[in-house]
Amino acid sequence: MKQKTIQVTKPFLPDFDEYCREIKDLWESAWLTNGGEKHIAFEQALSEYLEVPFLSLFSNGHMALELAIAAFNLKGECITTPFTHCSTTNSIVRCGLKPVFCDVSEETGTIDPHRIVERITPKTSAIVATHVYGIPCDVEAIEQIAVQYGLKVIYDGAHAFGVRYKGKSIASYGDAVMFSCHATKVFHTIEGGITVFREEQYRKKANELLNFGYVDKEVITSVGVNARMNEFEAAMGLCNLRHFAEELEARRKVADCYREAFSGMPYVHMLKKPEETIGNYAYYPVFFRHPSKSRNEILAALREQGINGREYFHPLVNEMPCYLPEYGSETGHTPVAKKLAESVIALPMYGSLSVSEVERICNAVQKAMNL
Ligand SMILES: *Cc1c(COP(=O)(O)O)cnc(C)c1O
Repeated sequence: MKQKTIQVTKPFLPDFDEYCREIKDLWESAWLTNGGEKHIAFEQALSEYLEVPFLSLFSNGHMALELAIAAFNLKGECITTPFTHCSTTNSIVRCGLKPVFCDVSEETGTIDPHRIVERITPKTSAIVATHVYGIPCDVEAIEQIAVQYGLKVIYDGAHAFGVRYKGKSIASYGDAVMFSCHATKVFHTIEGGITVFREEQYRKKANELLNFGYVDKEVITSVGVNARMNEFEAAMGLCNLRHFAEELEARRKVADCYREAFSGMPYVHMLKKPEETIGNYAYYPVFFRHPSKSRNEILAALREQGINGREYFHPLVNEMPCYLPEYGSETGHTPVAKKLAESVIALPMYGSLSVSEVERICNAVQKAMNL
């Protein structure tokens, strides 16, 4: 009998009745969006959880990042990573900035601070780096470079909700950090995004931009959009935040099972978190360096056995058709990122994955490699 396919991810859902209780008030007030009661409560709960004084909520992670970059009103070039979702680069380009691709560290997959310095020019105005798979960037080295060269630091923390570094929330590093609350992310509001700003003036600007540019009922001072989070999404966020610690604990157990199975298995590599990091187990990326089997062959052999892994992230952003003509000549700057992108398979990772399912996945990996 063919076994059920294991998907790469499965959104966490609160108890149906709990969500119904949370949205019941909305039927009474008929206030469905535009910063209602749920939005206010969710902002407050998040600022406590993330240990920051203020933040903004958005319709999705992409808009949260794009409008964060827009709020700084930057010009010129942004140093960024190609080993990320295209949303990171698209946000930079849609703000009229030129992305300058910088290589990543082979150990962590995050932007390599030594390479950043080589790519700085008089036109550089910011570093837009991704806490890829929830692994914190080298935030201290990046901060030092930013101070030295007068650059803004904006983190794409789409994967990093709940991560802690050196005893502090990951939200406390950088001029701004975005968290995606998409259904497939570790913490979600169905669709949604959060940006934490270090300085209030930029949050204020982002709040104007996400509401068409209104500063007052009749005053529009910037060309904004509609990127508001609605009340149903905020209500989902309130429910999911209550259960987030349980979800993290369940994911930690899955990660422990994987680690045990893969430790000592040849040709299988994992990234390392910097020391003093408390991770969120958002993904389980594995890098295959088999001498005769390509990543795609291993992926196909896994699918054959009902395991849906995913080549996340592949291709590199600087090799996507929309960027290749302009940036293709620069892909030589990012060989490490290329090596990671060509060998990665993100294995299934979600809290409700059972021990026996993880065992099935690990056996399938072993079989796919013909060990
Ligand atoms: C998911 C993701 C985004 C975009 O977030 P959405 O909420 O889907 O708009 C941006 N950057 C990275 C790294 C992501 O994984």
